Amino acid sequence: MGIFSLFRRKERLAERHPMGVRFDPKRVTPKIKSEIKRLVYNDPRIERSIKRKAYALSLQSVVRGRDLRLLTSGLIEMGMDKRAATEFSVSLNNRCSAMMRIASETSLGITHGIWRFSGVPCFIEVGAIVKAGYEVQSEEHQRADGQKFPLKTGYVIAGVHTWPGSESGCRCIWIAAMPWQ
Ligand SMILES: [Zn+2]
Repeated sequence: MGIFSLFRRKERLAERHPMGVRFDPKRVTPKIKSEIKRLVYNDPRIERSIKRKAYALSLQSVVRGRDLRLLTSGLIEMGMDKRAATEFSVSLNNRCSAMMRIASETSLGITHGIWRFSGVPCFIEVGAIVKAGYEVQSEEHQRADGQKFPLKTGYVIAGVHTWPGSESGCRCIWIAAMPWQ
């Protein structure tokens, strides 16, 4: 069975069980764990005294297959404000999901993705106001629509390597590029 028919088979299976697929905790590799650590330790909204607990909880959230509720409510209990806790949980899980998808696709021999802008702006809104910087992000992501990029290194926007859906506020996705694309 060729690499791409294997991949299509996998996609069909995922369609058949959209929610029922149990998450395999083995997908949370040491690389993902160190990314979780980096996100927790570099985020100024998480106070130093709670970093260790916040890391443990973030790891649990990813291992359980995107348990946003666990992480958000845990961070709120530790004294973080609700908006920051929600934003952090979503963006950490988005980033990890993107990294895990890259790992599984590259293991199937897929090397490139095609960026797809969702049509909904990649904003974070505070009340009715778009948080600073996100209008630029959204325009850049809209421009990236249709661009082919290497899965391993990502697409370069303003000098930074990024992947669809991996930044906070981002609703973009990618489709696996076939060799002829
Ligand atoms: Zn986006």
